[in-house]
Amino acid sequence: MIKFFDTFSGKLKDFDLPQGSEVKLYTCGPTVYDYAHIGNFRTFVFEDLLRRFLEYKGYKVKHVMNVTDVDDKTIAGAARDVGAIHELPLHRLQGFTERYIQAFHEDLKTLNILPPTKEPRATQEIQVMIQLIEQLIKNGKAYMSDGSVYYRVASFPNYGKLSKKDLKQNIKGARVDVDEYEKEEGADFVLWKKSKENEPSWDSPWGKGRPGWHIECSAMSMKYLGETFDIHAGGEDLIFPHHENEIAQSEGATGKPFVKYWLHAKHLLVNGEKMSKSKGNFYTLRDLIEKGYDPLIIRYRLISAHYRSPLDFTLESLNASREALKRIRDFWFERTASKGSEKGSGKVSQLLKDMQAQFEQAMENDLNIPQAIGAIFVFIKEVNSISKEQISSKENQEIGQFFKTVDSVLGVFGNISSHEKIPSKVKQLVADREEARKSKDFKKADELRKRVEEIGFVIEDTAQGVQVKKSI
Ligand code: AMP
Ligand code: ZN
Repeated sequence: MIKFFDTFSGKLKDFDLPQGSEVKLYTCGPTVYDYAHIGNFRTFVFEDLLRRFLEYKGYKVKHVMNVTDVDDKTIAGAARDVGAIHELPLHRLQGFTERYIQAFHEDLKTLNILPPTKEPRATQEIQVMIQLIEQLIKNGKAYMSDGSVYYRVASFPNYGKLSKKDLKQNIKGARVDVDEYEKEEGADFVLWKKSKENEPSWDSPWGKGRPGWHIECSAMSMKYLGETFDIHAGGEDLIFPHHENEIAQSEGATGKPFVKYWLHAKHLLVNGEKMSKSKGNFYTLRDLIEKGYDPLIIRYRLISAHYRSPLDFTLESLNASREALKRIRDFWFERTASKGSEKGSGKVSQLLKDMQAQFEQAMENDLNIPQAIGAIFVFIKEVNSISKEQISSKENQEIGQFFKTVDSVLGVFGNISSHEKIPSKVKQLVADREEARKSKDFKKADELRKRVEEIGFVIEDTAQGVQVKKSI
């Protein structure tokens, strides 16, 4: 049975959806005013792992991820960008955010993150948000004040249950709305903001305005997944107030439970500190790729710590990830490339069965990836200690097949066929290098090796002869 740590109940909870059924998953998407940073990607990669594992277990996953393309930050960014002093029309805001939406899509692809089933954008879903706010007013949960609409927190007794916050205490460091409007109570939060003169705005029963950030997610998740859905995930900074407010809005409107499982990823640190531009420890995915890191090494680093454990991102740890990944890929490559004997001892088949069981058990336990990857390394070590004659060609095929299946979850091994396909140009250079070595022209041999490396391949001189691989 799969178990997830559910933030709401504060404990591991059985995931008891019938096998093969559709899992409705909502994840909070990016606010598109800049490139997403490597911390954002810890959360997005975790959510991808969650989705892939559910699919591996035979569930169909309907994954909805919103794009926040209107809020204070996108408006400020677009206004700066277009130099709009008096007015920022909607199409200029959308032109600005489109750039970062495209960049975000490219980054998802680079990190081998599956695209969501549906990706609604806030600016295209304003009517559902207005309807939801109208329902809340009808239910006595919201009130209008000076052209804006607020949620009356005192009307929702369960407020604070997700974040375990005592509202009488000062809420420090939370991502709260900084705009100042007339509210009945300090804890009340804005659902609809009266528009400022130069901002994009929409008509509503309360006059021209725009939605608050929290109502976006309640409206879009329920529109595409229904009033009650299975999993809602995000980074830990979203627990309060964002997700707390989503619960108050959705349940306040429908009177039904909003979400069955709440999953949150811990924040990523860089060199033990919070990432910030002023400290100079702020990385985008693009920064790291420019430094020469294979994106799948970055993905491996991001998934290799458990999502609820701290992850300290350093360049040294990336180098260690490169080594770990190289060991797995080399093993996979060798097993796929080697013929194997006609009849093996059967040991490998047994080890493979054990490893598969351990991998699955670890992942079922709240996606315990360190244990799951640990099982793979133990397997590699044990198979490497078995003499080659004892491994049959069928077993080699089984290994190849199983690694493919494991990679449908991890998404880090890369395409084995890219290891196998050695371009003829590279083959020719390798043959020339062999000739040079035979005639003891080591200078020329070294030059040829360098040329092979420049094309992205490595030559390894092994006991079995020369081997060529794609470098990572
Ligand atoms: P944003 O674009 O700021 O709305 O954030 C997108 C996602 O990234 C949300 O799920 C955040 O919780 C998450 N996030 C932001 N900073 C970090 C961080 N340092 N580590 C992990 N996740 C983060
Ligand atoms: Zn959200």
